Parts: sequence; structure tokens; C-alpha cells
Amino acid sequence: MSKRIAIIGAGTAGLQLGLYLLKHGVTPTLFTDRRPEEYSGMRLFNTVAHHHVTVEREDLLGCNHWPSDEFGYFGHYYYVGTPQPLQFYGDLVQPSRAIDYRIYQPKLLEDYISRGGEVRYKTVAHEDVAAISSEFDTVVVCTGKGPFGEMFKKVPALTPFDRPQRALCVGLFKGVGPTQTRAVSMYFSPGAGELIEIPTWSFNGWTTALVIENHIGGDLEVLANTKYDEDPKAFIKLLLDKLRKHYPTLAERIDEQEFDLANGPLDILQGGVPPSVRESHALLDNGKLAIALGDVQATVDPVLGQGANMASHAALILGEHLVTHDVYDKRFIERVDNARNDRVLGATRWTNYMLNSLGSLDPNLLQFIGAISQNRHLADEFTENFNFPELQWDCFSSPERIQAWIQKRLSGREDAREAAAA
Ligand SMILES: Cc1cc2nc3c(=O)[nH]c(=O)nc-3n(C[C@H](O)[C@H](O)[C@H](O)COP(=O)(O)OP(=O)(O)OC[C@H]3O[C@@H](n4cnc5c(N)ncnc54)[C@H](O)[C@@H]3O)c2cc1C
Repeated sequence: MSKRIAIIGAGTAGLQLGLYLLKHGVTPTLFTDRRPEEYSGMRLFNTVAHHHVTVEREDLLGCNHWPSDEFGYFGHYYYVGTPQPLQFYGDLVQPSRAIDYRIYQPKLLEDYISRGGEVRYKTVAHEDVAAISSEFDTVVVCTGKGPFGEMFKKVPALTPFDRPQRALCVGLFKGVGPTQTRAVSMYFSPGAGELIEIPTWSFNGWTTALVIENHIGGDLEVLANTKYDEDPKAFIKLLLDKLRKHYPTLAERIDEQEFDLANGPLDILQGGVPPSVRESHALLDNGKLAIALGDVQATVDPVLGQGANMASHAALILGEHLVTHDVYDKRFIERVDNARNDRVLGATRWTNYMLNSLGSLDPNLLQFIGAISQNRHLADEFTENFNFPELQWDCFSSPERIQAWIQKRLSGREDAREAAAA
């Protein structure tokens, strides 16, 4: 008998899982509250960069509609606003890419439908899950909204914060001049915040996503609390003032006459993301397994751009296991967790570490930044490893590891190892 899999939520996790299952001969049922035509009128959800490992998964799923030679970006610029500012660049091995999710997600939903995937449009309530599960072999929950999140208990040891660590002001803008190489730029204003600039494809072509991560109680927090809609001109003036003060190399590239939200007033999002890790599954009263996938399992602050990338990674691993195993029980989820968690937990731990260490100006992190700012090979490796957060966590999980990472590379031992392996 064919497998019956329910997926609740058509974000990146649910869509990529759905496409994977279809590709392997399983027709899942996707429950979602949005039709493809509804996305274009919605407020910006996020500003997501897909690292090239995720783009490669899209190639595998046949849903990469935005080839990297046209839509990709090629590395990261870094600006650290210390008294003697540091500026450096690192390359990615393959281009990464950012598409407005109001374009990306409906396109993947259309792919899913055109390949025969079943969809039920409804806002699923938490109480519906038991009834849904009785129709299916297992239910994958890919939305953490409201009580869905509560189905899966928080894991305290992996959830160090009980509230957002940054006050976010995120928007898609026009009027920002390009960088020399098309790249993400990461800016650090010690004691005040971080800013990530992402070249992003949206409804009117190229725009600039600014993810402005403001320290709570700092000089920039006002950006998260001042409403664009109440007085757009005053908001833009305030933003320009703050950019000139904290992120001068970005401000230099802005045409102040043109600078505004790129498509209109829906292009801004303000608030905060409470980081959390939840249990990966719940056993329902009828004995069926409900599996957490994507943000509902692990939510991270967007400062390092990891959430959707780890959701995509976990979606394909879960898909592979659903296809190759026949019994969906405790042992099944144990195997799924073993396969997905090094990356998922690596990303959450590394992100939480960076939030803390950037906030407190941890000397170990400052030493690391100093080292990579002076050595292009190190900057390239750090940049490429945004694809592999478990490798970042190998480096950052203790001061000893940071020292060892730097020393190994500066002494040439890493080159020697690579040469021997080649
Ligand atoms: C400002 C910002 C910037 C970010 N930048 C990055 C980045 O650069 N890189 C990165 O990897 N990640 C980034 N993220 C994180 C990323 O957006 C999330 O990790 C990712 O979108 C999670 O995908 P998901 O499928 O788990 O959930 P979601 O994308 O939240 O999808 C949930 C889906 O469920 C549907 N749904 C919700 N409730 C119901 C219901 N009751 N019934 C039926 N359907 C329902 C929704 O319509 C939606 O389609 C960013 C996040 C923010 C906020």
C-alpha cells in the first residue's frame, strides 16, 4: 500500500519535503492556509538567503528557477566598526542566492501541485491534528504558529534564551548602490548591533534587503519601534541618520533621494525572533508520530541566515527516511534525529554563541575576527562555512577550539592536511 504522509505548513520545510516525496513516488497531502495567488499581496515574511548547499538541494528537487549565474551572490564583505575599522572579504566556493519568499514559496507550491501533489487549503487548528493523523501513517508539522509549537516541548538545555536577543528592523530597499562583487555585506557596530545587507530578487527586480539587528536597550533599538507607516519620510530620515553613524560604508553607497522601501509599505517587518529548540516529535494519543520539521523544531535569530537552510537540510533527510523506512515509530525518529541534528543543532548553537559574543564583545571572537581579517584564506573558509554550521560550531564551541582553528591554519598544518588528502 502506498505511504500516506500529511504535511502541515507550506513553508520551505513543508514544500521541499513535499517535492522530495513526489520525486520518490510518494504523494503526500499538504495542508496550508495560503493559495499561490495570495502571496504577492502579503507583508514581507523575512529576507532569506539560501546558501549554495540549499541551492544544490533545489537542483536535485527540480525547483531551482533562479540559476546562480544570474541570481547568485559570490561572497561576504565584512565591516567591523572598531576604533580602527576592519574591512575584508571572503569568497564562497559556489554562489548563494536570495529570492523574496513571496515569489519563491508560491512558485514551489505550483511545482508541487503541477507534479501531482495533493493540497488541502485550510487553517489547521491544533485540535485538528489528531483527526488528520487518523487518515495518515504520520503527520509532519511544519509550522510553529500558536499552539502547534506547544505540541513539542522546549528543550531547556538547547534553549538558552527566553526572549528575542535582538530588536529587528528588516526591509527591502531601493536606492542602495551595488558592491563591487555581488555579495552579502555583514556589518558590526560594537555595542549597538549588526546589519546584514543581502542582494535580493523581488517583484521589481534587484533590491537590497537590510536585516538590522539591534541590541536591546542600545542606540539602534528605536529602529525596531518606529513605524514606517505612521510617517514614512521621518522613518527614512531616522534610518539614514543611524546608518551614517553606525554603518558608514553602507551609507556611502546610498542615494538618499531614491532610498525607500523597494515595492511599497509592505516591505518592512519589525519585531524579534525568540530562539528555541523543541522536541523533534510527539506521540499522539492514537499512537501515531507527529514530527516537527523546520522552525517548529529549531528557531534561530536571522543574524547568520541559518533557519531556512537548516529547514531544507532537515526536510530532505526526513524525506529520505520516510521513503526508505516503513515503520514510523520511536526508532524511526531516532534515526532521523541522528541524521539531521548535527547541522540543525550546530546552526542553533553557533547562532546563539554569536548573538552572545557579539553583544558582549567576547575577546575570543574578537581575536578570531582579527585573524581572519588579515588572511584571505581564513576569511574564505569562514565565509564558505556558512554552508556548514556544524563546522562553524567545531570552531566556536570553546575558546580552545577557536585558538586551535586559528593556529592550525596559520602554521600551515591545514594546507598540509589538504595537500595530503588531495
Ligand atoms: C527577518 C528574517 C530573515 C531571515 N533570514 C534568513 C536567511 O537569510 N537564511 C535562512 O536560512 N533563514 C532565514 N530566516 C529564517 C527563515 O525564514 C525560517 O527559518 C524559515 O522560513 C522556516 O521555514 P518553515 O518551513 O519551518 O516555516 P515557515 O516558513 O514559517 O512556514 C510555515 C507555513 O505554514 C503555513 N501555516 C501557518 N499556520 C498554518 C495553519 N494553522 N494551517 C495551515 N498552514 C499554516 C504558513 O502559511 C507557511 O506557509 C529569516 C527569518 C527572518 C524573520
